[in-house]
Amino acid sequence: MKAIRIGFGYDVHAFANERELWLGGIKIKHTVGLLGHSDADVLIHALCDALLGAANLRDIGYHFPDTSKIFKNIDSKILLRDTMKLIRDKGYEFGNADCTVCAEEPKLNPHIPLMQVCLSEVMAVDLDSISIKATTSERMGFVGRKEGIAAYASVLIFKQ
Ligand code: MG
Repeated sequence: MKAIRIGFGYDVHAFANERELWLGGIKIKHTVGLLGHSDADVLIHALCDALLGAANLRDIGYHFPDTSKIFKNIDSKILLRDTMKLIRDKGYEFGNADCTVCAEEPKLNPHIPLMQVCLSEVMAVDLDSISIKATTSERMGFVGRKEGIAAYASVLIFKQ
């Protein structure tokens, strides 16, 4: 019997001037970017936390602390690749992920297919196993006021 485990992740980053906008491993043209110690890819961070949670391996800040110079402005795809190694080293294989990005702007739907390709390649998993959804916050709250972007991710992992 397979041991199936669920994980959940959440992250948020604030918009800032003179920053690039990286989401789902790709750079998106926009008037502002996200502020963070790394490239602030909020979707990848939520996904990493979901993967780590599923394997009971703490959280992204535990493994990749934002006080460390090593991770300053780091490409979050490296963190995702290393997170996949952590869960595989513990004997788990990836099942699927379902992610939601909440942003008032920019419009993310046109970018989702490329994000799926990018993430599935970094994780070395099937393209069809990565679902990414985009929604707004209907102009309510910090997302609605365009102060930043929030992301949520659920994943399944399993042991044969
Ligand atoms: Mg983060």
